[in-house]
Amino acid sequence: MNNNLYALIGLAVAVSFIMALKGLSAPKTARRGNLIGAAGATLATIVVFFDPAQKVHHNTFLILGAIAFGVIVGVPAARRIQMTQMPQLVALFNGVGGGAAALVSIVEYLSLSNNSARDTASTIATVFTVVVGSVSFSGSVITFLKLQEIMTTRPVVFPGGRFVIAATLVGVLGTGVWVVNSGGNTPLAIMGVLSLLFGVLFVLPVGGADVPIVISLLNAFTGLTVAAGGYVLDSTLLIVAGTLVGASGTILTRLMAAAMGRSLFGTLFGAFTAKPQAATEAGEARPVKSGSPDDVAILLNYAQRVVIVPGFGLAVAQAQHTVRELADLLTAKGIDVAYGIHPVAGRMPGHMNVLLAEANVPYEQLVEMEEINPTFPQTDVVLVVGANDVVNPAAKTTPGCPIYGMPILDVGLAGNVIFLKRSMRPGFAGIENDLLYEPKTTLLFGDAKDSLTKVVSALKNL
Ligand code: NDP
Repeated sequence: MNNNLYALIGLAVAVSFIMALKGLSAPKTARRGNLIGAAGATLATIVVFFDPAQKVHHNTFLILGAIAFGVIVGVPAARRIQMTQMPQLVALFNGVGGGAAALVSIVEYLSLSNNSARDTASTIATVFTVVVGSVSFSGSVITFLKLQEIMTTRPVVFPGGRFVIAATLVGVLGTGVWVVNSGGNTPLAIMGVLSLLFGVLFVLPVGGADVPIVISLLNAFTGLTVAAGGYVLDSTLLIVAGTLVGASGTILTRLMAAAMGRSLFGTLFGAFTAKPQAATEAGEARPVKSGSPDDVAILLNYAQRVVIVPGFGLAVAQAQHTVRELADLLTAKGIDVAYGIHPVAGRMPGHMNVLLAEANVPYEQLVEMEEINPTFPQTDVVLVVGANDVVNPAAKTTPGCPIYGMPILDVGLAGNVIFLKRSMRPGFAGIENDLLYEPKTTLLFGDAKDSLTKVVSALKNL
């Protein structure tokens, strides 16, 4: 393949990545955007085998073997994973991406074992790739363990923790300078180990509710690692792809932190300054009002305006089609129905929009938090389907609690609130919701899909 054709294909791949990002910015075009990006990535993988700059292609069979292994592991994992487990899958894929970029840079560094063959700029790029890639790898593994609830989702802090983190960071930077000055392999190994440790220490203090933000941040780190790796390997395509991931990941991280009403610094290190939580978190025995599907159907039947607030539990129960059936039934009875969408409901940005779009819920019925909040005082019934943190008034009233400062859906201002959940367990942030104990609140216990099915049939009989 000649140089021009090779460069032209590289340009086409870069354009496909940009088109993919554009497509992913709206639910209607997201699927197409994803396919365009995947096609670009496939082309990029194939075309390197024909890179005219490489006179001899080494280890072709090893590379093909590694690709086959990745496909055998990755495709079934991505197919089998539940939609609710998507963030942890993204965390793992992202982590191995950062780790791979770090390993490639190390191999490149070692292959130029004659120090005089290494120029300072590419050694600095190698140091950057190894540090950020290792942090991304080990940090992502911890986010995976937290989201999969293999380890506690609560912030892990220990006395002097922030000093240990700061000392590790100083160690990473110090060994980085050592690598650049000496070009030795020992400092590189120490720097790699310290970076892995820093990744772990950096994510441990982050509480469960904030973990998706950290995943997005680590994803941005991986992008930067890949871009720096592109510099080491002299690959324009890697620089372009890495920069796109780095930039879009940074924007997403900022948007998510803003939606949760906190700074990125507060997200990462807030646990060190948070006040201990009150004992109510443990779930003290207070009376609640629970109802039957018939009670809920009656409340809904006599309402003029109903707002449905979906949350993570809707995704767990896969109740999107049933909730739509209920909404259609209410609309047919002349009741005004809308969905109140919180920007961080569920476990990933846009989670509820994607879920409800799957059930063909009309887009105009989905109302953003800022728009729906002023309408709650005129709403007769709010049906909270598997949501908890996003309607928890503690975000406004309890300074120091993990979600304090996060804007919430003010469902407590409505005439009646119905919670569909299975138990009295708290939401993702692990804190009690006082709204569950309010006299205007009715709890319908059970899996959201089962409960909704029963409410639908009760409504049909009214
Ligand atoms: P929560 O995790 O707060 O609450 C989920 C609720 O669903 C729980 O009360 C649970 O109660 C219930 N539930 C679970 N499974 C079922 C089921 N099968 N049927 C009925 N109910 C069920 O979810 P929210 O959506 O309210 O909040 C999202 C959380 O994720 C927030 O803490 C947010 O900060 C965090 N987050 C989200 C991000 C995003 O981008 N979306 C990003 C960062 C953080 P029970 O177990 O009793 O059934």
